[in-house]
Amino acid sequence: MTRRPQSRGICTYCGVELSKAGMSKHLDICPRRLEITQQAEASDRPVERLWHLRVQDAYDKDFWLDLEMRGPATLTKLDQYLRDIWLECCGHLSEFTIGGWGGTTIGKSRKADTVFVPGLVLRHLYDFGTTSETDIRVVGGRAGKSTTTHPLALMARNIQPAAECEECGQPAEWLCMECVYEEEKSGLLCAGHIEGHPHENYGEPSRLVNSPRMGMCGYDGPADPPY
Ligand SMILES: [Zn+2]
Ligand SMILES: [Zn+2]
Ligand SMILES: [Zn+2]
Ligand SMILES: [Zn+2]
Repeated sequence: MTRRPQSRGICTYCGVELSKAGMSKHLDICPRRLEITQQAEASDRPVERLWHLRVQDAYDKDFWLDLEMRGPATLTKLDQYLRDIWLECCGHLSEFTIGGWGGTTIGKSRKADTVFVPGLVLRHLYDFGTTSETDIRVVGGRAGKSTTTHPLALMARNIQPAAECEECGQPAEWLCMECVYEEEKSGLLCAGHIEGHPHENYGEPSRLVNSPRMGMCGYDGPADPPY
């Protein structure tokens, strides 16, 4: 098997495309972000602890986010953000843990400041049946004024991973779950091969979106950030 190239992402501030490994460093020196943080410092918002979080799917590490979370915000806000951008299908239960299944549950009413320390990794579980597992690593923190009135800021996000059509190898835009479950294929289909595709026993094929929950439970996007 050829090794997949390293995942790349986009800096929300300046739009530059970089490797996942390079993004955290870039965020520390991004000139556009520096301008925005300086503007925030001139505002009358309170000085807070601001936490840099690297969020990624526990198993498919091509899906990742860099978030900045305000210290007084509760984990409920982070849970809501993860649901909005990646996870929400049918309003399933979720929880934050240290250690995943069987680990220690961290209550959602806790504030970021009372939970986070640099290096900590929380595992978020969404849906206790077909579970999406997401790791939240605390990269570091800074003292300053938030760049946003929201509880979180999206600093960077992965580019949607490339997918190849199971029939022809062209870029895929659709996912057929009947191919996955009944035929042990990837289920990935291009715009051409979705036409006349014979399967519908698991619902119509759904459009690929930039979320690690694609193909799980009833998830079909849209995978847009709420802010
Ligand atoms: Zn940038
Ligand atoms: Zn569901
Ligand atoms: Zn095709
Ligand atoms: Zn199919």
